[in-house]
Amino acid sequence: MKTFILYLFLLISFVSSFSAPVWAHPNDVPDPGFVFTSDFGPRNVTPWHPAIDYGAGAGVAAPLLEDGTVTGLSRPNVGSIIILTIQGVHTFRYLHMFNDTVLPIFSGSFILAQVSGGNLAIVSRTPGFLDRANYIISPTAGQTVTINSDLLGIPGPTVPTVLRNAAGAGNAISTNQLNTVNHPAVGAAGTSGGYPAHLHVDLGFNVSENPLYHIADRNSAYVVKMLDTGNTARLGDYFVGPNDSNSMFIKLNVDSKVGGDLESVRIYVDSVDAGHLVREFTYGGTTPAHDPLNADTTGPDLSNGATNGVQPISYGLENFVYNDWNTTPPLAVRPSQLAEGKHDWIFVLRDIRGHIPFTGGIDPMFKFTIDKTPPSTSIGVKKTL
Ligand SMILES: [Zn+2]
Repeated sequence: MKTFILYLFLLISFVSSFSAPVWAHPNDVPDPGFVFTSDFGPRNVTPWHPAIDYGAGAGVAAPLLEDGTVTGLSRPNVGSIIILTIQGVHTFRYLHMFNDTVLPIFSGSFILAQVSGGNLAIVSRTPGFLDRANYIISPTAGQTVTINSDLLGIPGPTVPTVLRNAAGAGNAISTNQLNTVNHPAVGAAGTSGGYPAHLHVDLGFNVSENPLYHIADRNSAYVVKMLDTGNTARLGDYFVGPNDSNSMFIKLNVDSKVGGDLESVRIYVDSVDAGHLVREFTYGGTTPAHDPLNADTTGPDLSNGATNGVQPISYGLENFVYNDWNTTPPLAVRPSQLAEGKHDWIFVLRDIRGHIPFTGGIDPMFKFTIDKTPPSTSIGVKKTL
């Protein structure tokens, strides 16, 4: 019996170790309440944004997302992006804090300076005191920060001043072990790197994994529209003729601004199964590196609004475009094969947790009518029903 239980245990372990991929280790970092200015996914500028952007103004405190060790704080040159890397269960990077000028840089209640050993340091100042620090974040622990007294606003002759601790009982010394209780903020949102003030959070250089996968769930609520080639919203029960390319043009306009969390778009006809799947797009946010499907991440392939792919518009707003409905999907769902009469589009969209982001948890449906008469492009589609 014991042997049986052992085998059972081994079997369960074996099965579970394969059913949950090694990278799938989400745990809920508390939602910092970011107001996003950019979500994860395709975007016109990079063109793939492997991060979320927090639209905080310069000087606004950026919250520490997770306890961990400071493994990097860099700014190669004046003018380059300031990057803070903290490794805990995950490795979060915080980019663009502070501005681009010479050290020390004052921003909000923070100072970017250097510790005695030369590494960069972020000082969290003690309210009400010019020369005290609540804490000093740096890759090197146990070091002090010295700033000229005039820069700190201390009257009298200018003298190098070693920052004191919050109680004024000794020198403030740097730490590279951070926790959200004692070190609630990592610095101030800023413009370093040459962008409007904001904070960019990602999971490491070249890591294409949505940080939202590890941040406490937000409610998503999407709005979906079908557009025609002229960008006019299609009316319910519109006519599709297999010789009318405009009628077969698929453009799904998705508003995911509530939550900023869109992971996949699947477009089905009549039934949700592989045989009825017309097109899918996934952002790969829950997978290892960079494997989005039809979402065009690497440069020239973003949709221009007419070509296949994703057309990013702005934060939480994208068009998903597909021209090949009558040539590529399973035969049974091509317009030329579908029976005359009414059919349904079923739009299966999900956020990163697999939630159904629609009212009542129901995937939206949208009717169309197949009309194969007359079979000529020159005459157009006759509205017979
Ligand atoms: Zn960003």
